[in-house]
Amino acid sequence: MADAADVLSAEADDHFHDECGVFGIFGRQDAAAIVTLGLHALQHRGQEAAGIVSYDGSQFHVERHVGLIGDTFTKQRVIDSLKGNRAIGHTRYATTGGAGVRNIQPFFAELADGGFAVAHNGNLTNAMTVQRALQKQGSIFSSTSDTETILHLVATSKERDLNARFIDAVRQVEGAFSLVALSSKKMIGCRDPLGIRPLVLGDLDGAWILASETCALDIIGARFVRDLKPGEMVIVTSKGIESIFPFEPQKPRFCIFEYVYFARPDSSVEGRNVYDVRKRIGAELALESPVDADIVVPVPDSGTPAAIGFSQAAGLPFELGIIRNHYVGRTFISPGDSIRHMGVKLKHNANRRMIEGKRIVLVDDSIVRGTTSQKIVQMVRDAGAKEVHMRIASPPTRASCFYGVDTPEKSKLLASRMTIEEMAEFIRVDSLGFLSMNGLYRAVGEASRNDEQPQYCDACFSGQYPTRLADLEGTDNVRSLSLLATGGL
Ligand code: SF4
Repeated sequence: MADAADVLSAEADDHFHDECGVFGIFGRQDAAAIVTLGLHALQHRGQEAAGIVSYDGSQFHVERHVGLIGDTFTKQRVIDSLKGNRAIGHTRYATTGGAGVRNIQPFFAELADGGFAVAHNGNLTNAMTVQRALQKQGSIFSSTSDTETILHLVATSKERDLNARFIDAVRQVEGAFSLVALSSKKMIGCRDPLGIRPLVLGDLDGAWILASETCALDIIGARFVRDLKPGEMVIVTSKGIESIFPFEPQKPRFCIFEYVYFARPDSSVEGRNVYDVRKRIGAELALESPVDADIVVPVPDSGTPAAIGFSQAAGLPFELGIIRNHYVGRTFISPGDSIRHMGVKLKHNANRRMIEGKRIVLVDDSIVRGTTSQKIVQMVRDAGAKEVHMRIASPPTRASCFYGVDTPEKSKLLASRMTIEEMAEFIRVDSLGFLSMNGLYRAVGEASRNDEQPQYCDACFSGQYPTRLADLEGTDNVRSLSLLATGGL
Protein backbone atom coordinates (compact mmCIF):
# COMPACT_ATOMS: atom_id res chain seq x y z
CA MET A 1 0.00 0.00 0.00
CA ALA A 2 1.26 3.46 -0.84
CA ASP A 3 2.20 5.64 2.11
CA ALA A 4 1.17 9.26 2.56
CA ALA A 5 4.27 10.55 0.88
CA ASP A 6 3.58 8.45 -2.22
CA VAL A 7 -0.03 9.56 -2.37
CA LEU A 8 0.72 13.24 -2.07
CA SER A 9 3.77 13.32 -4.27
CA ALA A 10 1.77 11.51 -6.95
CA GLU A 11 -1.04 14.03 -6.59
CA ALA A 12 1.42 16.84 -6.99
CA ASP A 13 3.40 15.32 -9.80
CA ASP A 14 2.36 12.75 -12.38
CA HIS A 15 4.24 13.89 -15.44
CA PHE A 16 7.21 12.93 -17.51
CA HIS A 17 10.09 15.11 -16.34
CA ASP A 18 12.78 16.52 -18.50
CA GLU A 19 15.89 15.98 -16.47
CA CYS A 20 18.14 18.86 -17.27
CA GLY A 21 18.78 22.36 -18.46
CA VAL A 22 22.22 23.66 -19.50
CA PHE A 23 23.62 27.16 -19.87
CA GLY A 24 27.06 28.59 -20.63
CA ILE A 25 28.60 31.99 -21.36
CA PHE A 26 32.06 32.93 -22.62
CA GLY A 27 33.59 36.42 -22.47
CA ARG A 28 31.62 38.33 -19.87
CA GLN A 29 32.97 39.54 -16.53
CA ASP A 30 29.97 38.56 -14.38
CA ALA A 31 29.73 35.15 -16.08
CA ALA A 32 28.54 33.13 -13.07
CA ALA A 33 25.82 35.66 -12.21
CA ILE A 34 24.57 35.44 -15.81
CA VAL A 35 24.61 31.63 -15.63
CA THR A 36 22.62 31.78 -12.39
CA LEU A 37 19.94 33.86 -14.11
CA GLY A 38 19.96 31.56 -17.14
CA LEU A 39 19.51 28.49 -14.94
CA HIS A 40 16.72 30.24 -13.07
CA ALA A 41 14.85 30.59 -16.41
CA LEU A 42 15.51 26.87 -17.03
CA GLN A 43 14.34 25.78 -13.58
CA HIS A 44 11.31 23.99 -15.12
CA ARG A 45 13.81 21.51 -16.66
CA GLY A 46 15.03 20.39 -13.24
CA GLN A 47 14.36 21.55 -9.71
CA GLU A 48 16.38 19.30 -7.49
CA ALA A 49 19.99 20.34 -7.88
CA ALA A 50 22.21 22.71 -9.80
CA GLY A 51 25.86 23.44 -10.38
CA ILE A 52 28.10 26.08 -11.93
CA VAL A 53 31.78 25.88 -12.95
CA SER A 54 33.69 29.06 -13.80
CA TYR A 55 37.27 29.84 -14.89
CA ASP A 56 39.06 33.04 -13.87
CA GLY A 57 42.19 32.86 -16.03
CA SER A 58 44.23 30.87 -13.56
CA GLN A 59 41.88 28.46 -11.81
CA PHE A 60 38.47 26.78 -11.98
CA HIS A 61 35.77 27.30 -9.37
CA VAL A 62 33.03 24.75 -8.73
CA GLU A 63 29.74 25.09 -6.80
CA ARG A 64 27.21 22.23 -6.81
CA HIS A 65 24.18 22.17 -4.53
CA VAL A 66 20.89 20.39 -3.92
CA GLY A 67 17.87 22.69 -4.23
CA LEU A 68 16.44 25.49 -6.33
CA ILE A 69 18.78 27.98 -7.99
CA GLY A 70 17.24 30.94 -6.17
CA ASP A 71 17.67 29.25 -2.79
CA THR A 72 21.15 27.81 -3.20
CA PHE A 73 23.11 30.16 -5.44
CA THR A 74 23.49 33.05 -3.03
CA LYS A 75 25.63 36.15 -3.52
CA GLN A 76 28.41 34.53 -1.52
CA ARG A 77 28.44 31.43 -3.69
CA VAL A 78 28.03 33.20 -7.02
CA ILE A 79 29.61 36.64 -6.93
CA ASP A 80 32.29 35.92 -4.35
CA SER A 81 33.20 32.35 -5.25
CA LEU A 82 32.57 31.75 -8.94
CA LYS A 83 35.00 34.23 -10.43
CA GLY A 84 35.89 34.57 -14.08
CA ASN A 85 34.57 35.64 -17.45
CA ARG A 86 33.41 32.21 -18.55
CA ALA A 87 31.14 29.71 -16.83
CA ILE A 88 28.79 26.82 -17.52
CA GLY A 89 25.90 25.56 -15.42
CA HIS A 90 23.35 22.80 -15.16
CA THR A 91 20.05 22.26 -13.39
CA ARG A 92 18.74 18.77 -12.90
CA TYR A 93 15.73 16.72 -11.95
CA ALA A 94 16.47 13.43 -10.27
CA THR A 95 14.36 10.69 -8.78
CA THR A 96 15.04 9.44 -5.29
CA GLY A 97 17.62 6.72 -4.85
CA GLY A 98 21.01 7.29 -6.37
CA ALA A 99 20.55 11.03 -6.61
CA GLY A 100 23.03 12.95 -4.55
CA VAL A 101 25.72 15.59 -4.59
CA ARG A 102 28.09 13.31 -6.48
CA ASN A 103 25.67 13.25 -9.43
CA ILE A 104 25.18 17.01 -9.65
CA GLN A 105 26.58 18.54 -12.82
CA PRO A 106 28.64 20.06 -14.33
CA PHE A 107 31.18 17.29 -13.85
CA PHE A 108 34.68 18.66 -13.47
CA ALA A 109 38.07 16.95 -13.59
CA GLU A 110 41.70 17.97 -13.89
CA LEU A 111 42.86 16.26 -17.08
CA ALA A 112 46.47 15.92 -18.29
CA ASP A 113 46.34 19.28 -20.04
CA GLY A 114 44.13 21.21 -17.58
CA GLY A 115 40.68 21.41 -16.06
CA PHE A 116 37.61 20.32 -18.02
CA ALA A 117 33.92 20.58 -17.08
CA VAL A 118 30.89 19.13 -18.86
CA ALA A 119 27.12 19.58 -18.45
CA HIS A 120 24.64 17.36 -20.26
CA ASN A 121 20.96 17.47 -21.17
CA GLY A 122 19.83 14.09 -22.44
CA ASN A 123 20.77 10.51 -21.72
CA LEU A 124 23.27 8.13 -23.26
CA THR A 125 21.83 4.79 -24.29
CA ASN A 126 25.20 3.00 -24.31
CA ALA A 127 26.71 4.56 -21.17
CA MET A 128 26.79 1.32 -19.15
CA THR A 129 28.36 -0.55 -22.05
CA VAL A 130 31.07 2.10 -22.47
CA GLN A 131 31.57 2.40 -18.69
CA ARG A 132 32.20 -1.33 -18.34
CA ALA A 133 34.81 -1.19 -21.08
CA LEU A 134 36.50 1.80 -19.45
CA GLN A 135 36.45 0.16 -16.03
CA LYS A 136 38.22 -2.88 -17.49
CA GLN A 137 40.99 -0.49 -18.60
CA GLY A 138 41.27 0.97 -15.09
CA SER A 139 38.87 3.95 -15.10
CA ILE A 140 37.24 4.67 -11.76
CA PHE A 141 33.80 6.33 -11.77
CA SER A 142 32.80 8.61 -8.91
CA SER A 143 29.12 8.97 -9.84
CA THR A 144 26.29 6.91 -11.28
CA SER A 145 25.61 9.48 -13.99
CA ASP A 146 26.03 8.61 -17.66
CA THR A 147 27.58 12.04 -18.22
CA GLU A 148 30.77 11.08 -16.39
CA THR A 149 31.37 8.62 -19.22
CA ILE A 150 31.99 11.53 -21.58
CA LEU A 151 34.56 13.01 -19.21
CA HIS A 152 36.40 9.67 -19.09
CA LEU A 153 36.32 9.28 -22.84
CA VAL A 154 37.84 12.75 -23.26
CA ALA A 155 40.46 11.99 -20.60
CA THR A 156 41.51 8.67 -22.10
CA SER A 157 41.43 9.67 -25.77
CA LYS A 158 44.73 9.32 -27.61
CA GLU A 159 44.02 12.34 -29.84
CA ARG A 160 46.42 15.25 -29.60
CA ASP A 161 44.25 18.29 -28.71
CA LEU A 162 41.07 18.95 -26.80
CA ASN A 163 38.83 19.44 -29.85
CA ALA A 164 39.95 16.13 -31.31
CA ARG A 165 39.61 14.34 -27.95
CA PHE A 166 36.10 15.74 -27.46
CA ILE A 167 35.11 14.59 -30.97
CA ASP A 168 36.63 11.19 -30.28
CA ALA A 169 34.51 10.98 -27.10
CA VAL A 170 31.15 12.05 -28.54
CA ARG A 171 31.57 9.72 -31.52
CA GLN A 172 31.64 6.78 -29.10
CA VAL A 173 28.41 7.59 -27.27
CA GLU A 174 24.84 7.00 -28.41
CA GLY A 175 21.50 8.47 -27.41
CA ALA A 176 20.55 12.05 -26.65
CA PHE A 177 23.08 14.68 -25.73
CA SER A 178 23.06 18.45 -25.76
CA LEU A 179 26.40 19.24 -24.12
CA VAL A 180 28.07 22.37 -22.86
CA ALA A 181 31.73 22.00 -21.86
CA LEU A 182 34.40 24.35 -20.53
CA SER A 183 38.19 24.27 -20.55
CA SER A 184 40.61 27.05 -19.66
CA LYS A 185 40.62 28.27 -23.26
CA LYS A 186 37.26 27.35 -24.76
CA MET A 187 33.58 26.65 -24.34
CA ILE A 188 32.19 23.80 -26.45
CA GLY A 189 28.56 23.10 -27.35
CA CYS A 190 27.45 19.90 -29.07
CA ARG A 191 24.16 18.27 -30.11
CA ASP A 192 23.80 14.58 -30.89
CA PRO A 193 23.40 13.71 -34.59
CA LEU A 194 19.61 13.34 -34.25
CA GLY A 195 19.23 16.61 -32.30
CA ILE A 196 16.93 14.93 -29.79
CA ARG A 197 17.26 17.61 -27.08
CA PRO A 198 17.37 21.36 -27.81
CA LEU A 199 20.39 23.69 -27.62
CA VAL A 200 20.46 27.32 -28.76
CA LEU A 201 23.15 29.88 -29.42
CA GLY A 202 22.83 33.45 -28.15
CA ASP A 203 24.85 36.61 -27.84
CA LEU A 204 25.04 39.17 -25.05
CA ASP A 205 27.03 42.24 -26.11
CA GLY A 206 29.62 40.07 -27.86
CA ALA A 207 29.70 37.26 -25.27
CA TRP A 208 28.58 33.90 -26.72
CA ILE A 209 25.89 31.93 -24.88
CA LEU A 210 24.71 28.32 -25.12
CA ALA A 211 21.38 27.44 -23.52
CA SER A 212 18.73 24.74 -23.56
CA GLU A 213 15.95 27.17 -24.45
CA THR A 214 15.46 30.73 -25.65
CA CYS A 215 13.66 31.75 -22.43
CA ALA A 216 17.12 31.63 -20.80
CA LEU A 217 18.31 34.25 -23.29
CA ASP A 218 15.28 36.47 -22.76
CA ILE A 219 15.83 36.71 -18.99
CA ILE A 220 19.16 38.48 -19.50
CA GLY A 221 18.22 40.43 -22.63
CA ALA A 222 20.51 38.32 -24.84
CA ARG A 223 19.98 38.00 -28.59
CA PHE A 224 18.85 34.65 -30.00
CA VAL A 225 21.28 33.77 -32.78
CA ARG A 226 20.06 30.31 -33.86
CA ASP A 227 19.43 26.72 -32.82
CA LEU A 228 22.51 24.55 -32.96
CA LYS A 229 21.93 22.07 -35.76
CA PRO A 230 21.63 18.36 -35.01
CA GLY A 231 25.16 16.91 -35.00
CA GLU A 232 26.76 20.35 -34.76
CA MET A 233 29.65 21.21 -32.46
CA VAL A 234 30.56 24.85 -31.78
CA ILE A 235 33.85 25.91 -30.24
CA VAL A 236 33.98 29.35 -28.62
CA THR A 237 37.37 30.92 -27.86
CA SER A 238 38.56 34.48 -27.31
CA LYS A 239 39.13 34.62 -31.09
CA GLY A 240 35.48 33.87 -31.94
CA ILE A 241 33.25 30.91 -32.75
CA GLU A 242 33.84 27.92 -35.02
CA SER A 243 31.25 25.37 -36.13
CA ILE A 244 31.99 21.81 -37.20
CA PHE A 245 29.95 18.67 -37.91
CA PRO A 246 31.83 15.66 -36.55
CA PHE A 247 29.15 12.99 -37.14
CA GLU A 248 27.78 11.18 -40.17
CA PRO A 249 24.70 13.22 -41.18
CA GLN A 250 21.37 11.68 -40.16
CA LYS A 251 17.72 12.69 -40.44
CA PRO A 252 16.92 14.78 -37.34
CA ARG A 253 14.59 13.33 -34.69
CA PHE A 254 13.87 16.19 -32.28
CA CYS A 255 11.83 15.21 -29.20
CA ILE A 256 8.21 16.05 -30.05
CA PHE A 257 7.32 16.00 -26.34
CA GLU A 258 9.31 19.21 -25.90
CA TYR A 259 6.42 20.91 -27.72
CA VAL A 260 3.77 19.10 -25.71
CA TYR A 261 5.15 19.68 -22.22
CA PHE A 262 8.87 20.11 -21.46
CA ALA A 263 9.81 23.43 -23.03
CA ARG A 264 8.53 26.68 -21.57
CA PRO A 265 5.68 28.15 -23.65
CA ASP A 266 7.56 31.43 -24.17
CA SER A 267 10.52 29.58 -25.72
CA SER A 268 11.06 28.97 -29.40
CA VAL A 269 12.52 25.58 -30.19
CA GLU A 270 13.59 24.42 -33.64
CA GLY A 271 12.13 27.61 -35.09
CA ARG A 272 8.68 27.27 -33.55
CA ASN A 273 7.16 29.16 -30.65
CA VAL A 274 6.07 26.56 -28.11
CA TYR A 275 2.92 28.44 -27.07
CA ASP A 276 1.77 28.64 -30.70
CA VAL A 277 2.31 24.91 -31.17
CA ARG A 278 0.38 24.10 -27.99
CA LYS A 279 -2.56 26.23 -29.12
CA ARG A 280 -2.52 24.45 -32.49
CA ILE A 281 -2.47 21.13 -30.63
CA GLY A 282 -5.64 22.24 -28.80
CA ALA A 283 -7.28 23.28 -32.06
CA GLU A 284 -6.46 19.89 -33.66
CA LEU A 285 -7.87 18.15 -30.60
CA ALA A 286 -11.12 20.11 -30.88
CA LEU A 287 -11.47 19.08 -34.54
CA GLU A 288 -10.64 15.44 -33.90
CA SER A 289 -12.53 14.99 -30.65
CA PRO A 290 -15.40 17.50 -30.43
CA VAL A 291 -17.59 17.67 -27.32
CA ASP A 292 -21.06 19.05 -26.71
CA ALA A 293 -20.19 21.00 -23.56
CA ASP A 294 -20.56 24.37 -21.79
CA ILE A 295 -16.96 25.36 -20.94
CA VAL A 296 -13.32 24.40 -21.57
CA VAL A 297 -11.18 24.11 -18.42
CA PRO A 298 -7.41 23.57 -18.45
CA VAL A 299 -5.53 21.48 -15.92
CA PRO A 300 -3.08 24.28 -15.07
CA ASP A 301 -0.47 25.14 -15.99
CA SER A 302 0.59 22.58 -18.56
CA GLY A 303 -2.86 22.14 -20.12
CA THR A 304 -3.57 25.87 -20.47
CA PRO A 305 -2.30 26.76 -23.98
CA ALA A 306 -3.93 23.65 -25.49
CA ALA A 307 -7.20 24.48 -23.69
CA ILE A 308 -7.11 28.00 -25.18
CA GLY A 309 -6.62 26.50 -28.64
CA PHE A 310 -9.44 24.00 -28.02
CA SER A 311 -11.81 26.71 -26.80
CA GLN A 312 -11.10 29.00 -29.76
CA ALA A 313 -11.50 26.20 -32.32
CA ALA A 314 -14.65 24.79 -30.69
CA GLY A 315 -16.24 28.19 -29.99
CA LEU A 316 -16.67 27.29 -26.32
CA PRO A 317 -15.88 29.65 -23.40
CA PHE A 318 -12.49 29.14 -21.72
CA GLU A 319 -12.69 29.26 -17.92
CA LEU A 320 -10.17 28.79 -15.12
CA GLY A 321 -12.22 26.12 -13.41
CA ILE A 322 -9.15 24.79 -11.56
CA ILE A 323 -6.68 26.98 -9.71
CA ARG A 324 -3.11 25.85 -9.19
CA ASN A 325 -1.08 26.56 -6.08
CA HIS A 326 2.41 27.45 -7.32
CA TYR A 327 4.07 27.09 -3.93
CA VAL A 328 4.10 23.30 -3.63
CA GLY A 329 7.62 22.26 -2.74
CA ARG A 330 8.72 18.72 -3.40
CA THR A 331 9.59 18.39 0.28
CA PHE A 332 6.04 19.04 1.48
CA ILE A 333 4.92 15.46 1.16
CA SER A 334 4.91 13.86 4.56
CA PRO A 335 1.79 14.57 6.57
CA GLY A 336 0.55 11.95 8.98
CA ASP A 337 -2.10 9.36 8.27
CA SER A 338 -5.00 11.38 9.64
CA ILE A 339 -4.28 14.29 7.29
CA ARG A 340 -3.92 11.96 4.32
CA HIS A 341 -7.54 10.90 4.70
CA MET A 342 -8.72 14.50 4.46
CA GLY A 343 -8.07 14.40 0.70
CA VAL A 344 -5.46 17.14 0.81
CA LYS A 345 -5.36 19.12 -2.43
CA LEU A 346 -1.81 20.38 -2.49
CA LYS A 347 -1.53 21.53 -6.05
CA HIS A 348 -4.98 22.04 -7.57
CA ASN A 349 -8.31 23.26 -6.28
CA ALA A 350 -11.63 23.50 -8.11
CA ASN A 351 -13.08 26.94 -8.76
CA ARG A 352 -16.60 25.86 -7.79
CA ARG A 353 -18.45 28.92 -9.13
CA MET A 354 -17.21 28.29 -12.66
CA ILE A 355 -17.84 24.55 -12.63
CA GLU A 356 -21.08 23.89 -10.77
CA GLY A 357 -23.86 22.52 -12.98
CA LYS A 358 -21.70 22.72 -16.13
CA ARG A 359 -20.66 20.17 -18.73
CA ILE A 360 -16.92 20.67 -18.87
CA VAL A 361 -14.13 19.77 -21.27
CA LEU A 362 -11.05 19.20 -19.13
CA VAL A 363 -7.80 19.63 -21.13
CA ASP A 364 -4.46 18.22 -19.93
CA ASP A 365 -1.16 17.67 -21.73
CA SER A 366 -0.77 13.94 -21.09
CA ILE A 367 -1.75 11.00 -18.91
CA VAL A 368 1.12 9.11 -17.31
CA ARG A 369 0.01 6.85 -14.42
CA GLY A 370 -3.47 8.35 -14.36
CA THR A 371 -3.35 9.10 -10.65
CA THR A 372 -3.47 12.88 -11.05
CA SER A 373 -6.23 12.72 -13.65
CA GLN A 374 -8.32 10.52 -11.38
CA LYS A 375 -8.02 12.96 -8.47
CA ILE A 376 -8.69 16.02 -10.60
CA VAL A 377 -11.78 14.49 -12.16
CA GLN A 378 -13.09 13.59 -8.70
CA MET A 379 -12.35 17.13 -7.53
CA VAL A 380 -14.34 18.78 -10.33
CA ARG A 381 -17.20 16.32 -9.83
CA ASP A 382 -17.21 17.17 -6.11
CA ALA A 383 -17.42 20.83 -7.13
CA GLY A 384 -20.65 20.10 -8.99
CA ALA A 385 -19.60 19.47 -12.62
CA LYS A 386 -22.54 17.87 -14.46
CA GLU A 387 -20.40 16.08 -17.05
CA VAL A 388 -16.62 15.74 -17.33
CA HIS A 389 -15.10 15.12 -20.78
CA MET A 390 -11.33 14.79 -20.75
CA ARG A 391 -9.24 15.73 -23.79
CA ILE A 392 -5.51 15.03 -23.85
CA ALA A 393 -3.13 17.17 -25.89
CA SER A 394 -0.94 14.24 -27.02
CA PRO A 395 -1.35 10.62 -28.10
CA PRO A 396 -1.43 7.99 -25.31
CA THR A 397 2.01 7.62 -23.65
CA ARG A 398 2.69 3.90 -23.97
CA ALA A 399 6.48 3.56 -23.72
CA SER A 400 9.36 4.74 -21.54
CA CYS A 401 11.80 7.42 -22.64
CA PHE A 402 15.54 6.68 -22.61
CA TYR A 403 16.66 10.10 -23.80
CA GLY A 404 16.89 12.20 -20.66
CA VAL A 405 13.35 12.12 -19.35
CA ASP A 406 12.31 10.57 -16.08
CA THR A 407 9.59 8.09 -16.99
CA PRO A 408 7.91 5.39 -14.97
CA GLU A 409 8.43 1.80 -16.05
CA LYS A 410 6.31 0.91 -19.06
CA SER A 411 3.98 -1.24 -16.94
CA LYS A 412 3.09 1.79 -14.82
CA LEU A 413 1.98 3.85 -17.82
CA LEU A 414 -1.80 3.68 -17.88
CA ALA A 415 -1.95 3.61 -21.67
CA SER A 416 0.41 0.63 -21.86
CA ARG A 417 -2.06 -1.62 -20.07
CA MET A 418 -5.53 -0.21 -20.84
CA THR A 419 -7.63 0.68 -23.85
CA ILE A 420 -8.96 4.24 -24.07
CA GLU A 421 -12.37 3.00 -22.87
CA GLU A 422 -10.76 1.31 -19.86
CA MET A 423 -8.77 4.46 -19.12
CA ALA A 424 -11.97 6.54 -19.25
CA GLU A 425 -13.54 4.18 -16.73
CA PHE A 426 -10.43 4.25 -14.52
CA ILE A 427 -10.32 8.04 -14.29
CA ARG A 428 -14.15 8.20 -14.18
CA VAL A 429 -14.87 10.60 -17.04
CA ASP A 430 -17.92 10.72 -19.29
CA SER A 431 -15.64 10.61 -22.32
CA LEU A 432 -11.91 10.59 -23.03
CA GLY A 433 -10.12 11.66 -26.21
CA PHE A 434 -6.43 11.81 -27.13
CA LEU A 435 -4.80 13.77 -29.94
CA SER A 436 -3.87 11.47 -32.82
CA MET A 437 -0.25 11.11 -33.87
CA ASN A 438 -0.99 12.84 -37.19
CA GLY A 439 -2.81 15.61 -35.32
CA LEU A 440 0.34 16.19 -33.26
CA TYR A 441 2.48 16.23 -36.39
CA ARG A 442 0.09 18.70 -38.04
CA ALA A 443 0.36 20.97 -34.99
CA VAL A 444 4.15 21.09 -35.37
CA GLY A 445 3.80 21.98 -39.05
CA GLU A 446 4.05 18.62 -40.85
CA ALA A 447 1.38 17.35 -43.25
CA SER A 448 1.41 14.02 -41.37
CA ARG A 449 3.80 11.57 -39.71
CA ASN A 450 6.09 9.77 -42.15
CA ASP A 451 5.75 6.25 -40.77
CA GLU A 452 8.76 4.98 -42.77
CA GLN A 453 11.03 7.70 -41.41
CA PRO A 454 9.36 9.76 -38.65
CA GLN A 455 10.39 13.42 -38.62
CA TYR A 456 10.55 13.56 -34.80
CA CYS A 457 11.29 11.28 -31.89
CA ASP A 458 7.86 10.15 -30.72
CA ALA A 459 8.98 6.89 -29.10
CA CYS A 460 6.99 7.36 -25.89
CA PHE A 461 3.85 7.32 -28.04
CA SER A 462 4.90 4.93 -30.81
CA GLY A 463 7.49 2.71 -29.13
CA GLN A 464 9.76 3.32 -32.16
CA TYR A 465 13.10 4.42 -30.72
CA PRO A 466 15.31 6.44 -33.05
CA THR A 467 18.58 4.94 -31.77
CA ARG A 468 19.92 1.58 -30.73
CA LEU A 469 19.37 0.95 -27.00
CA ALA A 470 22.72 -0.73 -26.46
CA ASP A 471 22.51 -0.96 -22.68
CA LEU A 472 19.31 -2.98 -22.98
CA GLU A 473 20.56 -5.45 -25.51
CA GLY A 474 21.16 -8.82 -23.97
CA THR A 475 19.83 -7.77 -20.57
CA ASP A 476 16.10 -7.71 -21.20
CA ASN A 477 16.05 -5.20 -18.41
CA VAL A 478 14.39 -2.00 -19.48
CA ARG A 479 14.62 -0.71 -15.94
CA SER A 480 18.41 -0.83 -15.80
CA LEU A 481 18.67 1.89 -18.41
CA SER A 482 15.84 3.83 -16.88
CA LEU A 483 17.54 3.72 -13.48
CA LEU A 484 20.84 4.72 -14.95
CA ALA A 485 19.10 7.62 -16.64
CA THR A 486 17.70 8.80 -13.35
CA GLY A 487 20.78 8.23 -11.25
CA GLY A 488 19.23 5.16 -9.67
CA LEU A 489 22.10 2.82 -10.46
S1 SF4 B 1 10.73 9.12 -26.08
FE1 SF4 B 1 9.23 10.80 -25.90
S2 SF4 B 1 10.00 12.14 -24.30
FE2 SF4 B 1 11.68 10.80 -24.93
S3 SF4 B 1 12.82 11.93 -26.48
FE3 SF4 B 1 11.34 10.69 -27.57
S4 SF4 B 1 9.47 11.95 -27.76
FE4 SF4 B 1 10.81 12.90 -26.23
